[in-house]
Amino acid sequence: MISQLIWNNRFARLGENFYTRLQPQALPQPYWISRNQAVARELGLQDSWFESRDTLNALTGSGVLPGSEPLASVYSGHQFGQWAGQLGDGRAILLGELQTPSGSHEIQLKGAGKTPYSRMGDGRAVLRSSIREYLCSEAMHGLGIPTTRALALTGSDAKVLREEIETAAVVTRTAPSFIRFGHFEHFSYNDMHVELKALADFVIDNLYPACRAATNPYAALLEAVSERTAHLMAAWQSVGFCHGVMNTDNMSILGLTIDYGPFQFLDAFDPTHICNHSDTHGRYAYNKQPNIAYWNLFCLGQALLPLIGEQELALAALEPYKAIFPAALEAKMLAKLGLTESSPDNKALIESTFKLLAANKVDYTIFWRMLCSFTPNSGHEALRDLFFDRESFNAWALHYSELLAPESIGLEPDFRAKLMRKSNPKYVLRNHLGEQAIRAAKLKDFAPLIDLLEVLQTPFDEHPDHRALADLPPDWASSIEISCSS
Ligand code: AMP
Ligand code: MG
Repeated sequence: MISQLIWNNRFARLGENFYTRLQPQALPQPYWISRNQAVARELGLQDSWFESRDTLNALTGSGVLPGSEPLASVYSGHQFGQWAGQLGDGRAILLGELQTPSGSHEIQLKGAGKTPYSRMGDGRAVLRSSIREYLCSEAMHGLGIPTTRALALTGSDAKVLREEIETAAVVTRTAPSFIRFGHFEHFSYNDMHVELKALADFVIDNLYPACRAATNPYAALLEAVSERTAHLMAAWQSVGFCHGVMNTDNMSILGLTIDYGPFQFLDAFDPTHICNHSDTHGRYAYNKQPNIAYWNLFCLGQALLPLIGEQELALAALEPYKAIFPAALEAKMLAKLGLTESSPDNKALIESTFKLLAANKVDYTIFWRMLCSFTPNSGHEALRDLFFDRESFNAWALHYSELLAPESIGLEPDFRAKLMRKSNPKYVLRNHLGEQAIRAAKLKDFAPLIDLLEVLQTPFDEHPDHRALADLPPDWASSIEISCSS
């Protein structure tokens, strides 16, 4: 059954300076927590594969998938603005790369045991953080945001020590590539320019083939990565997603959301919100993310400099980010508002909407979803109830009605609402929803997690049976503290 997998492990061909080969370490008496049929289908895996005991064992380190070539890759990075030196896959093990009907996908086990890059860590991931990664990567995909995916979540009662004793889990992740900015930084900072070039050529040939035709393919690569990252930041900001640990080792060369740790979707809109309890200075606050991404791209540019040659060229490759990010964010916000035209008036409305939401600490997701039913020049009572400053809301609603009017001529009344519901999700993975799924899972009840997964995979749909998952967070939600410890 397992032999149906077709492997072509291209990263492993890069050679031993890029990784250490090793076997995952077995977790005792593993069990399935959730199998993600959506990803299984994309990978062309048959149901029988997912039913098999051999598969369960292989995904928890006690068996080998024939054709896989397990390895832990080495990378470095800047953490919280400081050069941190060598990091690497401390608890992620790359099994290899699958050839599937939907293209090439690398398969990684997160939490499968110690590697030479584990430093002080135990190579494990706890159930709590694994559930958060599993759910959030699928939630992001459901929102249409580039991300690594999660094929399966498996667990064991093996004990793992964090602030308290918890149990172990493994997320089986997939992505076309798990290469990070930090992989480039590693070889650049260690003056390993042969490896640096091999890595850049690998990424260009396999992931960014259009860059090969450019006069300077490495500058073209930097520009292409910047462009993808700019779009990723626009997507994060528009849904109110805070990553929490935007270190350069957590930045994907493909512009994917990667490494879900202390992330959070905003409840009440607060641009200065810090979701990571360990981020005392707020370096990774919600409103800092776009600038931090640029800072990280600058680090990537510096790492690529030996290949690009001239500093001017590297700087020029980074420059478009400054225009692409705001344009991409504006496009997303216009769609959320049900507007199409990029006019000065509409831009000013986006600004004033953000200000009004911040001043009133309005729930970000609920506001946008309710806005879909906005009809110009009506009472807007339900929407207005979200604001304590009624006067400011009324002024805003009047202004919004005026801007909607010319764009509404000749439209069916419901047309805009339907369109807006495709840009304004009803469901996001709020902290308290993850927490509820975690609490149940700790008692071996995986049903809430599986229900939540299903809703988050199609977050723009109504899901009438699960309306409570779209409610305001309960009071206890504000006491949830998520840190880097996972
Ligand atoms: P993060 O910022 O959480 O993505 O992780 C930063 C670095 O720490 C990476 O090199 C991880 O592989 C490593 N790391 C995090 N947690 C563990 C752990 N429990 N065991 C080993 N390494 C870890
Ligand atoms: Mg990481």
